[in-house]
Amino acid sequence: MIRSFGGAGTVTGSCHLIELGGSRVLVDCGLFQGSEALARLNDDPFGFDPAEVDAVVLTHAHLDHSGRLPLLVRRGFRGPVHALPATRDLCEHLLADTVKLRHEDAERDRRKGRPVAEAPFGAEDVAEALGRFRPLAYGRPAEVAGLVVTPRVAGHIPGSASLLMAHGGTRLVCSGDIGNARKDVMPDPPPCPPADLVLMESTYGDRDHRPFPETLAELAHVIREGAARGGKILIPSFALERTQDVLYHIARMEEAHEVPVLPVYVDSPLATRIEQVYQAFPEEFSDDVRVIYRRGRDPFRPKRLIYTRTVDESKAINASREAAIVIAGSGMLSGGRILHHLRAHLPDPDTTVVIVGYQPRGGLGRRLVEGDPVVRVMGREVDHRARVATIGGLSAHAGRSELIDWARGAGAGAEVRLAHGEQAALEALREGLTAAGLRARVQPSEVPIPAGGRHDEGE
Ligand SMILES: [Zn+2]
Repeated sequence: MIRSFGGAGTVTGSCHLIELGGSRVLVDCGLFQGSEALARLNDDPFGFDPAEVDAVVLTHAHLDHSGRLPLLVRRGFRGPVHALPATRDLCEHLLADTVKLRHEDAERDRRKGRPVAEAPFGAEDVAEALGRFRPLAYGRPAEVAGLVVTPRVAGHIPGSASLLMAHGGTRLVCSGDIGNARKDVMPDPPPCPPADLVLMESTYGDRDHRPFPETLAELAHVIREGAARGGKILIPSFALERTQDVLYHIARMEEAHEVPVLPVYVDSPLATRIEQVYQAFPEEFSDDVRVIYRRGRDPFRPKRLIYTRTVDESKAINASREAAIVIAGSGMLSGGRILHHLRAHLPDPDTTVVIVGYQPRGGLGRRLVEGDPVVRVMGREVDHRARVATIGGLSAHAGRSELIDWARGAGAGAEVRLAHGEQAALEALREGLTAAGLRARVQPSEVPIPAGGRHDEGE
């Protein structure tokens, strides 16, 4: 009834085919991310015929859940794509960005005389996919290819939903990514509704997050110290969710006089567009955030916030000698404008680098944390004298205890299939759910998953 062509046995590439009552509905169609071996799966056949899929439902816009949608369309899918309106708008920007990045990579390969791989899809496929979106609303049942689908608040990012799918007397729940119930930006996810079968994520199935107040206190401390030294405070961050989260907390810390008011640059064209989507959907957020919106203020706006738009504006940040916070992508330091800022400021001992997301083994972020005295940034050796602080606990995912509490809502008779996790997390969550009296097993994958490469929880 559920066949997984990604997002099983791995954290990325979520793609589950639900066959129920004669309908074939695809839940998510995500990119494999995190290692080259995984990324190579993206251009492979899906493992099913896209033309025979009746409809797609997206749990949320993160690319590891939506990124192969244009490829699905290109390969023959002609049905509707059901999602919350915020998911559609976020997908518009994220999918366009993947086309742009792929194009830039190809241009670079061409300049260097390397072989240029043909892009699997282009802007026209993104436009075609976007034209197929149909809006869903939280709590409102919708007819999807003969099934009744009710999206429920997942509290992960704007537009994120867990899906209750019913046909006849059968109730199936696909969790999507479940949010971290820390009561700040996103609303808390309600527990899983009663169900016969639950397909659930397991990203943090083996561990709980540290208490959130500790995380915030540490972030405030790092910003105060960095400001006192007078250098730049560089925060590599994903354009969606982590950037807005950090902005929200800096703004609250400024109000509480816990940090000095510094210029805060968001040096990411994508983050600038995502900010507009946030403003368009105030109802997506926690009560605290909505109250601030109702007062006519932007909750994600520190006092001296500057969104840079052009490359010249970006370069001007490095010319200024004032202490400032600079938030830029990419979150895993694999590219993007953050590299220019690191190259300019790592040799300065007054610089602070604040790591707010997962850094893959062997990557630049890990080498900065480990304190390598010389690191390679954009092909150049750079002296690294900056302070580096790692702030854990900003995850957008539920921790282990929250996942178990969520699943209890399904009821004792439910069968729980675990997906979207590394092997250790899947096994640990299976044990935890079994101890809680649920029948749990790991969802098998229908695509061979290469080893290595977990992704950041920001995806
Ligand atoms: Zn996600």
